[in-house]
Amino acid sequence: MSQSDTLFAQAGQYIPGGVNSPVRAFKAVGGTPVFLKSASGAYVTDVDEKRYIDYVQSWGPMVLGHNHPKVIAAVIEAVESGLTFGAPTERETVLAKMVCECLPGMDLVRFVNSGTEATMSAIRLARAYTERDTIVKFEGCYHGHSDSLLIKAGSGALTLGVPSSPGVPAVLAEHTVTLNYNDPQQVETFFAQQGDRVACVIVEPVAGNMNCIPPEPGFLQTLREVCDKHGSVLIFDEVMSGFRVSATGAQGYYGVQPDLTTLGKVIGGGMPVGAFGGRADIMNHLAPKGPVYQAGTLSGNPVAMAAGIATLELISEPGFYAQLETKTQRLVQGLEAEARKADIPFTTNSVGSMFGGFFTDEKKVVNYQQVMACDTERFNRFFHGMLERGVYLAPASYEAGFMSQAHSNEDIDTSIAKAGEVFTLLRN
Ligand code: PLP
Repeated sequence: MSQSDTLFAQAGQYIPGGVNSPVRAFKAVGGTPVFLKSASGAYVTDVDEKRYIDYVQSWGPMVLGHNHPKVIAAVIEAVESGLTFGAPTERETVLAKMVCECLPGMDLVRFVNSGTEATMSAIRLARAYTERDTIVKFEGCYHGHSDSLLIKAGSGALTLGVPSSPGVPAVLAEHTVTLNYNDPQQVETFFAQQGDRVACVIVEPVAGNMNCIPPEPGFLQTLREVCDKHGSVLIFDEVMSGFRVSATGAQGYYGVQPDLTTLGKVIGGGMPVGAFGGRADIMNHLAPKGPVYQAGTLSGNPVAMAAGIATLELISEPGFYAQLETKTQRLVQGLEAEARKADIPFTTNSVGSMFGGFFTDEKKVVNYQQVMACDTERFNRFFHGMLERGVYLAPASYEAGFMSQAHSNEDIDTSIAKAGEVFTLLRN
């Protein structure tokens, strides 16, 4: 019995399912989750002293790799001055200025503690601003676990097979309309009939919670157009894609500007941070300037702000994203080549440092239906084969993978070689 087995059994006595976020339990792929005890650069180490090349990167935040010395130094410096004050601090303005300068159209930003809080608050704000209740989201997009958004959601919600969680009141679910990602025609048809009651459209501009699905050309532009025509607020949920696909987020990458943006993950550099922001005329409806209430005891926490500032400073170095993208391409092309050699039907998607692999005969995967038709059993065997060989992938086929600055070409080539071994085994 491994240490991880023992710890998982103990955890289950006190924590529901032994984990504090469902996907960590390995329910989708089977087996016992590995308990991690440390991380450095591209690697994580488990309690049994086994080291893995890590493509989960704490589900996205660690774009610099784990424990970057400058981020750790900034955190220690902040910790030594006090953990939290519940009063304004200068660091909040420093990070807010950096975020607003990076993202086109981000006039004002408010910090919260998670991506869930960010999207929940952005929705409330959009509803108040438009004085409408209906929100539009896309099947397979995940925006955290607030009631209005946990409807036909992706990520862990998909692995449980309960796209809408029990406990979400039907009266709330009625106000959430779910459309198909990458289907601009359906969006146009819906808006032509009911656009004038839509408060907002919320979308992952690169979907990363149904594996990795980039927007097809024109899809995001259509969302912009229908929102403009019908007076609805366009919200890009960039909790995952923000500072991941480029320094200007997916909005800069694809050249489409939302009215509001939600952020998380990378902007906290590994600490619990979320944010939402955008057009000043909308953001000024927030308390204390306006009537829309939103608050947080630990929001703008000094330690979290310090980690975010250090991270954003480091990622703004010239060439940072070009290097990440080159490394991601090396990995996905290598994986595809190994799969071809082994005669395993497999294709990949990637944008910036986000990527995904699909066990399917299809040449290109662009929507939720195609993702759901992939061979999950084959993915699960691939996952375990890679884990055994020291490569840590997300434990579900509906998750994107992440490259970091710390991954070397050698790490990537090792991962490709291991994948080659596993693809060969999958033939049987
Ligand atoms: N939005 C997106 C696009 C996400 O990927 C996630 C989490 O993975 C969230 C929102 C929720 O963020 P959090 O887990 O910090 O609440």
